Amino acid sequence: MSSLNSQIRAIAMEMGVDAVGFVPISKVSDSEIAVFKTWLSQDKHAGMTYLERYIEQRQYPQLLLPEASSVIILAVSYYPPQRQDLSAPKVAKYALGRDYHKVMKKLLMGLAERISTEVAPHSFRAIVDTAPFLERYWAEQSGIGFIGHHRNLIVPGVGSFLFLGELLTSLRLESDQSRPLSCNDCQKCLKACPMGALTDEGLNASRCINYLTIEHRGAIPQGLSSRFGRRFYGCDTCQDVCPYNRSPKSSSLFIPFEQLLHLNRMDLKELDENRYADLFYGTAMTRAKLPDMRRNAEIYLSNNLE
Ligand code: SF4
Ligand code: SF4
Repeated sequence: MSSLNSQIRAIAMEMGVDAVGFVPISKVSDSEIAVFKTWLSQDKHAGMTYLERYIEQRQYPQLLLPEASSVIILAVSYYPPQRQDLSAPKVAKYALGRDYHKVMKKLLMGLAERISTEVAPHSFRAIVDTAPFLERYWAEQSGIGFIGHHRNLIVPGVGSFLFLGELLTSLRLESDQSRPLSCNDCQKCLKACPMGALTDEGLNASRCINYLTIEHRGAIPQGLSSRFGRRFYGCDTCQDVCPYNRSPKSSSLFIPFEQLLHLNRMDLKELDENRYADLFYGTAMTRAKLPDMRRNAEIYLSNNLE
């Protein structure tokens, strides 16, 4: 293992990161871009039209930082050490703690600065959902893990309940991990999805509860919401059933907020501006604004009669 890699990995692990990958930057393969374009052309990205933009930057990541030579991938578990009440309206695990954009950005900036002072000076750009960058593809290229049929990155030994963040850096870093296992013939997530949103060809976001309750604006297309069950914001079912998540590593950086662990029917019945602020400010749940949270609340209350 190169000394640069081991020094950077040691600093990142000390800061609470669960896995670190390195990969020289290059053009994304034509076949990967072709798969992405086909997925877009089939409208499987639903209303996430921002994904249609900046295809050139996605294929040529050096356009995001011309002096970049490599990518450092950080994976941080968000698997919560505590669970929501069994009767609580379900919130996806990633959203229970502090807004990950802020936490991951701070982590990336802190790591970048420590690399400059303790390892070698470098130019860098930190990315947490903030640039057109195919992060799971690059994570797979680094050898840190693989993309499962549920479309999340799986890091064996850690799981898939992960936030990813990347540093584009001018340092020349080689990958030091071989590509790990795969799904083999497991189809558990495909079979467990209550919406039929997963197939061998990937995710159809227009049927996925994550998309519908978080990203979609306005009414939910007819016939879908009755299958949400107790899910109020997001859905973890395909990850919950994944064998790689049998003993997920608990997060040390993302601790759930008490008001979300104990979310209840009354919170949803009385969801006005003040309650929305009390419950969701400081979390990533402000991605859905009050009208769409009210929509989710109405669906929850009609699916879960007292
Ligand atoms: S998050 Fe839920 S609805 Fe979406 S693909 Fe996974 S199991 Fe299906
Ligand atoms: S549940 Fe099975 S098929 Fe789905 S991602 Fe996990 S290992 Fe792969």
